Amino acid sequence: MKLLEDKIRTDGVAVNENILKVDSFINHQVDPSLMLAIGEEFAAHFKNHGITKVATIESSGIAPALTCAMTLGVPMIILKKQPSKTLNSDLYQTIVTSYTKGTSYELTLSSKYISSDDHVLIIDDFLANGEAATGALRLIRKAHATIAGIGIVIEKSFQPGREKLISQGIEVFSLARIKKLDVGTIEFMDEE
Ligand code: 5GP
Repeated sequence: MKLLEDKIRTDGVAVNENILKVDSFINHQVDPSLMLAIGEEFAAHFKNHGITKVATIESSGIAPALTCAMTLGVPMIILKKQPSKTLNSDLYQTIVTSYTKGTSYELTLSSKYISSDDHVLIIDDFLANGEAATGALRLIRKAHATIAGIGIVIEKSFQPGREKLISQGIEVFSLARIKKLDVGTIEFMDEE
């Protein structure tokens, strides 16, 4: 998506060879018109997939997931991160371990907002090692709903997330695919 790639080029900051900061338009301050364009792009791609709900992981996935859900005319559900280990029969729960950050959190979803009739599109801001997306898949499967695919705003294609997801037969649609990062360098996959 050219608009997004241009924004990443001008306003994204490659902190090192692994981390891209997009705090000025996605993760801290949010650019609403870019989010609308992103949501429309996801919706155009997935419009014939029979999606009944768009799910995202709080908090940075909420803006693009909302604009996508709005364009598709379906509800958005937020998979919540909780530190607690409280067992609750009304909640689907799964532990996500971030190997990169060395932390774990519990991802939760109320059984009120999902059922076996749902066909869910998962949206997230970044795809790196695929731990967050795999946790989201696990949670939605626990609810016996089906997965339509995964929409990613920024994929770091040099990290293993995409491979991990497509090897499970999941469709991954990423709007910007980064081939290489380094201080002062951001290269996209389509810049051959
Ligand atoms: P994964 O689980 O795929 O390793 O990482 C996904 C999550 O980590 C994303 O939802 C995002 O919050 C965070 N993340 C991973 N890489 C980056 C990055 O380069 N920049 C930022 N801002 N967040 C990242």
